[in-house]
Amino acid sequence: MRERAVSGHPDRTGRTHGATLPSVTERNGTTKEPGVRADRPAAAREATVARDVPEPAHECPAASFGDYRTAFHAARLPMAVLDREGRILAANPAFGELLGTDPGRLVAATAADLADLGSDPRVQAAYREVLSGHSDRLRCTRRLKHPSGHTLWVEITVEPLSGSERILLSVADSSDRHDLLARLRHLQMHDPVTRLPNRALFFERLSSALESASVATTGTGRIGLCYLDLDGFKAVNDTLGHRVGDRLLSAVAQRLTLCAEHAADRGTGNGRAHLVARLGGDEFALLVEDSTGTDQLSELAQCALDALQRPFDLAGQRLSVSASIGVVERAAAGTTATGLMQAADTTLYWAKEDGKARWTLFDPERNAHRMTRQALSSTLRPAVDRGEFTLEYQPLVGLDDGRAEGVEALVRWRHPQFGMLSPNRFIALAEENGAIVELGRWVLEQACRQARAWQLERPGDRPLFVSVNVAVRQVWDSDLVADVAGILAATGLPPELLQLELTESAVMGSAGRPLQALQALSDMGVRIAIDDFGTGYSNLAYLSRLPVSVLKLDGSFVRGFRSQEHPNPADETIVEALVALAHRLGLTVTAECVESAEQAARLRRIGCDTGQGWLYSRPVPPERIDALLDAGGRTGG
Ligand code: C2E
Ligand code: MG
Ligand code: MG
Repeated sequence: MRERAVSGHPDRTGRTHGATLPSVTERNGTTKEPGVRADRPAAAREATVARDVPEPAHECPAASFGDYRTAFHAARLPMAVLDREGRILAANPAFGELLGTDPGRLVAATAADLADLGSDPRVQAAYREVLSGHSDRLRCTRRLKHPSGHTLWVEITVEPLSGSERILLSVADSSDRHDLLARLRHLQMHDPVTRLPNRALFFERLSSALESASVATTGTGRIGLCYLDLDGFKAVNDTLGHRVGDRLLSAVAQRLTLCAEHAADRGTGNGRAHLVARLGGDEFALLVEDSTGTDQLSELAQCALDALQRPFDLAGQRLSVSASIGVVERAAAGTTATGLMQAADTTLYWAKEDGKARWTLFDPERNAHRMTRQALSSTLRPAVDRGEFTLEYQPLVGLDDGRAEGVEALVRWRHPQFGMLSPNRFIALAEENGAIVELGRWVLEQACRQARAWQLERPGDRPLFVSVNVAVRQVWDSDLVADVAGILAATGLPPELLQLELTESAVMGSAGRPLQALQALSDMGVRIAIDDFGTGYSNLAYLSRLPVSVLKLDGSFVRGFRSQEHPNPADETIVEALVALAHRLGLTVTAECVESAEQAARLRRIGCDTGQGWLYSRPVPPERIDALLDAGGRTGG
């Protein structure tokens, strides 16, 4: 049995297809169709109806033709018998009642018009298949308009009567079931607290808006979204209870709805109010279909902020809240619901990050930066395994003779997509996600291996030491002492040729494990240097009690006395005092960022021990250090 079931439920936009019934009856009681006269005597009409009722194929001997006719008339199910053209040959009283007319008047009417089988092409095609005998049944749901004004939802079945050329059309009124389903759907799609559309309905509307906007020829083809989150709502819930919290949400919903309505009234909503939905918790969304640009959306966002600014009076409580809003506006084509929501979510996060109580517009550049950070962060670990990192070395030069005494190892990432990346782009990320432990171990091993190679290549020379940067997390999250001992043993580098650079903040307040680690390393013969000294606490007295032997003065000090025209005596005095004090405490001092001979001369006069900077050399690949050593370790400075 082939059967066609075609549904005539409302589409996503809530539009339904339907027919007004009965189209055959004019106000004066005559019918439109030719050949049927409304003024025919009732008896004659009766005869027409009776004559056209077909005889059943499998007739039970006990039941006569009259019985079937009586049953057809008495049936509560509205039915009509049609010919192969779809014209009504007979209709029972229930059918007449459903359509609000005398069944006799329906004779010769076109069933498709009465039962709305022609407005939907799919239904129409399936109906024709049954009429032509190519299909055995059609079932569909249609929405009909009763002449008294109300609408009916009906289940229509069309099937051939066996052994006859006739077709039976039956109509079951399913309005009650439909209403119930509609009520259930409303409950399912709305939030009970605010009565706003909920997340499910919001996504349904968003998807359908994106779908229709990207194919429609009318409208702007754009879409906009304000994604709003109340600031500090949790505190209201926690301190005043959930009942007050719910009332506040409901009051917020009302104000947002008013905003959306006003925007529509002002003509910015293309006559349609924007959808306001509660997405969950204290999150709301205002969806703008056919948006006209970012101005429209930022205006709406500002309106929402203004609306929420007035205090709320709730059960004797006066409450003030603010909100943060992420605003996104873009062409619908190529936009997915998930993509739009992600952008809105990121933008809302920026609004919070930028200080709350504001709206923030989506910024593709800021987003690209975030995406790059994310991409870098997630690929750091595998990049260590793939060998994407490399080391450059920068000489640490004796200020009195200009000879390289050591080198600082500085890591770079040869990124397959972004090119050569400086450590400023990824060290902080590696610290955040812990990849610094593996990366740091690799740097340490690589640097020690290289320093040992230089030492072995030049047995007669004073060997270069290597200075390696160590992040705080390496001290806390890994066994740095064991790693260093293992690497020194594996590479054969003497401990006194290794220096570890830690920042001031990493060693300040050291107690317990980090302090023990520093002590163990120092006992091993490894030198500890404080990197970027002067940017943190600069507590020399404290540092002298730690196993630290070198201070690396931050570049900002040297930069302070950069120019001859504008010498900064204050900086010079401070550096002089620092160096003197460091020496008294048994520390040596290295100045960072030495860029000019003049700076070098002043540092030398002040008594600084070593310098590092572009004056001597930029950080360079190891082969260039080879060349420097070949030249006797003398740098350009
Ligand atoms: P840092 O340890 O203070 O390293 C010195 C930085 O100053 C280097 O930047 C170097 O290229 C730059 N520099 C050197 N001389 C001059 C100069 O004369 N003028 C100016 N303007 N800059 C100069 P780089 O290589 O970009 O490294 C940046 C920071 O990244 C380093 O600062 C260090 O804190 C960190 N870093 C580098 N390699 C590693 C590593 O292997 N592990 C860890 N944990 N951090 C590292
Ligand atoms: Mg350093
Ligand atoms: Mg430094």
